[in-house]
Amino acid sequence: MRGLPGIRADFPIFDGEPRLVYLDSAASSQKPRQVLEAVNDFNAHAYANVHRGAYRLSADATDRYEGARRRVARFIGATDAAEVIFTRGATSALNAIASSWGDANLGPGRTIVLSVMEHHANIVPWQQASKRTGASLVYVGLDDDHQLDLDDLRSKVDSSTAVVAVTGMSNVLGSMPPLELIADLAHRADAVVVADGAQLVPHAPVDVASLDVDFLVFSGHKMLGPTGIGVLWGRRELLEAMEPWETGGEMIVDVGLHDSTWAPLPNKFEAGTPPVAQAIGLAAAMDYLDEIGMHEVRRHDMELTAHALERLSELDQVTVYGPRNVERRGSAISFTMGDIHPHDLATILDSRNVAIRAGHHCAKPLMDHLSVPATARASFNVYNDHEDVDLLIAGLQKAGEVFGLS
Ligand code: PMP
Repeated sequence: MRGLPGIRADFPIFDGEPRLVYLDSAASSQKPRQVLEAVNDFNAHAYANVHRGAYRLSADATDRYEGARRRVARFIGATDAAEVIFTRGATSALNAIASSWGDANLGPGRTIVLSVMEHHANIVPWQQASKRTGASLVYVGLDDDHQLDLDDLRSKVDSSTAVVAVTGMSNVLGSMPPLELIADLAHRADAVVVADGAQLVPHAPVDVASLDVDFLVFSGHKMLGPTGIGVLWGRRELLEAMEPWETGGEMIVDVGLHDSTWAPLPNKFEAGTPPVAQAIGLAAAMDYLDEIGMHEVRRHDMELTAHALERLSELDQVTVYGPRNVERRGSAISFTMGDIHPHDLATILDSRNVAIRAGHHCAKPLMDHLSVPATARASFNVYNDHEDVDLLIAGLQKAGEVFGLS
């Protein structure tokens, strides 16, 4: 069946019978043996805390951890590895930016520009920042094709705009806002651009230099890596001007009874013992993805999405939300089927070992915008192929019969 040859065999979760049709990679991806082994090898044979260099084991662990940081920098085209801050995930990175950068740079009369299709992780931290600082939230809508409405964006970014925070790929619609163009527009207004790369970075080549954004965040667990690790990449001059969002061990140069001084980047933002094994696992995931090639990952996503959109269009009463043109969308496909509740669809599919997501996908403002309470969502990764899509369609046909859709 068409897909990336040989990839599925690397993922132990697919070893069992009957076939697991895993279509919830936008929530979290499965892990290849290479990542599991990298984490296990470190924990079993090379484990120590980092930055405690008095003994060799710790110095080696530190080398591996800092090597993982350089690996991340290379993956996203950052020339300065000190601009890569390890976090717990995209959510904690966005919270950190909204509180540290936000509290210092927002205030009454300033605006925070978001899109209506943002994940809650790129909305709620800004709502909190707006309450603390008096800055106002401004939302950009979508065009008829469920892409970011660029005319609306142009009309809302002006001299009062402090920050434009947008997703690089919607976890619900798959839409891919043109980050380069958005960065250009925002920078002309002297605003900072925060790109939520939680869906984009796992699925397409990303180069922070050419995108010209100011911050990029993403999570390891959606890109074949472990949970508990994510990345906040930021421009050095912005990071240097920011206050730490967490304080304690590892991030100081000196501590007195009443005051302390901060370590240089990146340690200033990594208080406490960092997620060392997880960072090593993330680096292994990036090795794995680069072995396939991110252009090939993207090509596979587009090919599979085109097949899925075509097969879904054969079904009566299926409504797909999101752009049709696979060149400008990712592989998360949201849909509804007649008046069948998405949770019922997911339950019927689960009885056939097909795992999809149903609900609001942590994007309630978008659900309101689309005037639906929930959608079903199928999303893909490198291990999916046409057979997965076809089994999804067969399951949906069955659901249609069960619920009496003609
Ligand atoms: N942004 C988007 C677009 C997402 O899809 C997600 C995860 N669903 C997040 C942010 C938050 O990521 P995490 O839960 O890994 O922190």
